[in-house]
Amino acid sequence: QWIYLSGEYVLKEDAKISVYDHGFLYGDGVFEGIRVYDGNVFRLQEHLDRLYNSAKSIMLTIPHTKDEMKELVIQTLQKNALNNAYIRLIVSRGVGNLGLDPASCPKPQVIIIAEELAIFPKELYESGLEIITVATRRNRPDVLSPKVKSLNYLNNILVKIEASLAGVSEALMLNDQGYVAEGSADNVFIVRGKQVITPPGYIGALEGITRNAIIEIAKDLKYTVKEEPFTRHDVYTADEVFLTGTAAEVIAVVKVDGRIIGEGKPGKETNSLLKAFRERVVEEGEK
Ligand code: PLP
Repeated sequence: QWIYLSGEYVLKEDAKISVYDHGFLYGDGVFEGIRVYDGNVFRLQEHLDRLYNSAKSIMLTIPHTKDEMKELVIQTLQKNALNNAYIRLIVSRGVGNLGLDPASCPKPQVIIIAEELAIFPKELYESGLEIITVATRRNRPDVLSPKVKSLNYLNNILVKIEASLAGVSEALMLNDQGYVAEGSADNVFIVRGKQVITPPGYIGALEGITRNAIIEIAKDLKYTVKEEPFTRHDVYTADEVFLTGTAAEVIAVVKVDGRIIGEGKPGKETNSLLKAFRERVVEEGEK
């Protein structure tokens, strides 16, 4: 397996960075998780737009144009002869001194990892997930916007830890006002009749590429799509709940904090949306 590391390809075992890299020291950097289906990179442009916006927000200058970055992503896939893969694209502030000031880091580091994907086992798509809500809160949008997909993922990690301790594989975090924000690395939707509802960006969630694809698809399928705040009560009493993300795609949630959602199995609308999402992936690949 070849990893792109700031200008060269190195084997996985040799892909190492300095302990003085501010990505390591401070989580100072940005990243993307991108999916490749049958040789087609799903919505690469949108991922790059998000990456460059995240970088701009933290004043990190990516040392490539978006077109160059596109080429590097494709090249990395070819180098590893991968047709179906998960790509991790990372830009860290680079090597500096021990101070916080990024001014000591002259050269941002670009890393591209492409590998076969380990997603939730197939059974979980059939049975649906049991999840909980946790004490960890999403950081406030006015402090560091959750729209910035930064290397600082401690909140998300704490969510995972709380979930694991409770014996479930995923959890939802709320924002500081108690509105439901998102999962550890996925967005959340609730379904009420023919209404598909997800929290608006200002509640404090990453604007997921999969989330946006599902919003488009749901509109095309004539669902009423709403971006509005909701609480745990709304989740417990929804007809259906599902999560979306690059790795997970669309996965049904059947139990939240011990409350059974709908009939306790993946719902009809969730299944339709998952099916339509997979069709959309193929269609976009054929374009
Ligand atoms: N929320 C967070 C915090 C994430 O890290 C991710 C994963 O990228 C998502 C949501 C889902 O976004 P996407 O659909 O772009 O993968």
